[in-house]
Amino acid sequence: MLSAEAGKFVVDTAKQDSFMKKPEKEMKELLELIFLQAQMQFGPAIRSRWLHAEDDCPGCGGELNVVKFKKKKALSLNAFIFREHGVLIAYMLCSKCANAVIKLGETHPHGTTPLHQEIEKNLKAAYLKHQGH
Ligand SMILES: [Zn+2]
Repeated sequence: MLSAEAGKFVVDTAKQDSFMKKPEKEMKELLELIFLQAQMQFGPAIRSRWLHAEDDCPGCGGELNVVKFKKKKALSLNAFIFREHGVLIAYMLCSKCANAVIKLGETHPHGTTPLHQEIEKNLKAAYLKHQGH
């Protein structure tokens, strides 16, 4: 019983690994795509890109857990432009905030809701911290 449990655990861990690797690769490709699109749209105003790869959700501070990555939906990557620094910041949200953003987007222009403002505030702070400010 105990060894069966242990064996199962090993298999599950291996599965999680491959789940994690694939989205990471896709995420990088997606980020590249978003960056190129933004550069076409905004030109030289966008000088760099940065992926907010923290474990916490910039919307609510909750954890972005591994389970999320197993679902296609979890691959939705969001981005916003930190104009003052000419950087495109890409980020992921927990499923709760992702759903809230989608819902709010139906009735509000992008970036005008308290949730958007909270997300952008947290991302800007994380970016500045990352840059050593
Ligand atoms: Zn959240």
